Amino acid sequence: SASHFATCLHHNPSFMLSLGWEGASSAALPALAFPCMHMEVERGRSIPLCLSHSFSFFILLSSSSFSRLVHGGVYIKCPPLGLESLRVKDAQLQASSYKRRGLGPHRGRLNIQSGIEDGDIYDGGWCARYEDKDQWLQVDALMATRFTGVITQGRNSIWSWNLVETFKVQFSNDSISWKPCMNGTQEAVFEGNQDTETPVLAVFPESTVARYIRINPQTWFKNGTICLRAEVLGCALPDPNNIYQWQAQQEGYQDKLDFRHHNYKEMRKLMKSVQEACPDIMRIYSIGKSYLGLKLYVMEISDNPGKHELGEPEFRYVAGIHGNEVLGRELLLNLMQYICQEYKRGNPRIIHLVKETRIHLLPSMNPDGYEAAYKKGSELSGWALGRFSYEGIDMNHNFADLNTVMWTAIELETDESKLINHYFPIPEQYTSEEAFVAPETRAVISWMQTIPFVLSANFHGGELVVTYPFDMTRDWAPREHTPTADDSFFRWLATVYASTNHVMSNPDRRPCHYEDFVRHNNIINGANWHTVPGSMNDFSYLHTNCFEVTVELSCDKFPHASELPIEWENNKESLLIYMEQVHRGIKGVIRDKDTEAGIADAIIKVDDIDHHIRSAFDGDYWRLLNPGDYQVTVMAEGYFPATRSCRVEYEQYPTICDFHLTKTPKQRLRDILAKGGKIPKDLQLRLRQLRMRKLRTTTKTLNQRRIAQQQRARKARR
Ligand SMILES: [Zn+2]
Repeated sequence: SASHFATCLHHNPSFMLSLGWEGASSAALPALAFPCMHMEVERGRSIPLCLSHSFSFFILLSSSSFSRLVHGGVYIKCPPLGLESLRVKDAQLQASSYKRRGLGPHRGRLNIQSGIEDGDIYDGGWCARYEDKDQWLQVDALMATRFTGVITQGRNSIWSWNLVETFKVQFSNDSISWKPCMNGTQEAVFEGNQDTETPVLAVFPESTVARYIRINPQTWFKNGTICLRAEVLGCALPDPNNIYQWQAQQEGYQDKLDFRHHNYKEMRKLMKSVQEACPDIMRIYSIGKSYLGLKLYVMEISDNPGKHELGEPEFRYVAGIHGNEVLGRELLLNLMQYICQEYKRGNPRIIHLVKETRIHLLPSMNPDGYEAAYKKGSELSGWALGRFSYEGIDMNHNFADLNTVMWTAIELETDESKLINHYFPIPEQYTSEEAFVAPETRAVISWMQTIPFVLSANFHGGELVVTYPFDMTRDWAPREHTPTADDSFFRWLATVYASTNHVMSNPDRRPCHYEDFVRHNNIINGANWHTVPGSMNDFSYLHTNCFEVTVELSCDKFPHASELPIEWENNKESLLIYMEQVHRGIKGVIRDKDTEAGIADAIIKVDDIDHHIRSAFDGDYWRLLNPGDYQVTVMAEGYFPATRSCRVEYEQYPTICDFHLTKTPKQRLRDILAKGGKIPKDLQLRLRQLRMRKLRTTTKTLNQRRIAQQQRARKARR
């Protein structure tokens, strides 16, 4: 009602500011009165209203942002303070006692992971030193906060089983005098955990404003000790003495993007709206379907969407291979919105990027897994729910293992000239119907061969580091430095992303879980972290021309929606500058000297690098290289090889190195005999294409069979 509205504005000027901040027009603000104290706004933050007039304030509902946030006026969800995301610093966490440093209060964070062994300084939770009911884990929110609940989890460990079954909660404004969380007239006792991994939410009967909160275990697993990991839900209140600073903290994001988690339908809707806003440079296509039939949508961004242009490199970002590692998905949705907006605004950097590059963004490679994690939400999905495909396949181990093919050949082959170092065909057994290859993986492999990608990155979560191939160790060691022939360029690629990411590049950041990647400048050879056979990076490099790295984007796999604006800021420059690296090295077109026709599948060999690449359909090629002088040799069947030296400069544009090849007399004769028939392809190419055809055929059969099965099941249910 209007009078309440006026009272609100009178008592809380920040409320008015917040309207401008959300960019909401008055038409979108049908105000509803609710008997409650808080309004949660779009970014998951809450704004207190009418502090002196309790029980009257407004919930603003707009179609897109506010609707899901009201719970009957009884409980309004406050965001996590950030024990998991590390927004809450180690110094803010204290405890009555702790067993040892590796089990200190700073380890009592939701979803924190321990190292393989117990007993180091990176253990899986906070554990009290004593076993009595006076133990507590304390969080200092640093400011007045409306606490609404906590989420607890047991200790992460392979070797021991520790969890808290029930607990009490206390609040304080000064950390000296404490008052208990009440349930009516009684002190509230909350149900904690029954296993060590499932996060359990405890909502306070009444929310309480305080600065400090304590979780106070009452009973615990009887053969264990008091250990837990936690997250605290609370809405920060403005400091009445410094409201403008508070407001500035809440604001500060320039880009007006749709910062929230998008499920499948919302993602599709958003992509469609972005495409409609920028139809000249955007096109949506699908590369296939998930097991449950959700489409794998790609946003293509180019000045000529829908086709490959001669000499223009193709770039891709892939997110959501693990469905519960969700930040990459939102960053790619942000990125397409941002490119559309900036292109229209005339941002020269973006215009240049769009004109010179064909960009493909796949926000969700595992939509089935994502939907499962999304249903539980950012705090309660735990560490593994939604990681796998519906069939239980880990898609980052699901690509064909070509490393073994290559390394076995190196060991067995005595004639070195017969060894190949690129474009490995998919092994026969991988193409069979029985091969346990996810439909999503099959779709991506087919996509990789359809488009001549030059550079890519895939996004994961749960750590902060950029990993570069190889991802698999050569002798099945659990970890071992296993570089590719292009190690220096891969290290450059990883460094470009890591050094521009605001969180990684902070030298004072604490490790996410149990590995300190800051020591390695936040980059690591994948196999030197932990071996992964059948990874996407290794497959890209050995089966196609594409160089690909993995970006682990955040300690928290499923950050709360309120973290999304800052995560965009953390990654924005990295996302752009990484794409620009596709313009490093040399590129050119390989043509027939007589006819000027482009020569496809020509081999481009760079003197000392034992990894060749091939030209695309029209004879164009891209060879990513660090600055330097290179001897480049081009070979194509039926032609004399040609060599020239090409210099790569430090600037971010490629050196043009074109080649004109002369046909061999033998080939001329063959051409005459074949009367313009097709030039025979070399064995390696033939095999590579044959196996791809086979994979596509079995994929089609399997997909049809599955769809028929699903239809039959649906009928039977009816
Ligand atoms: Zn992952």
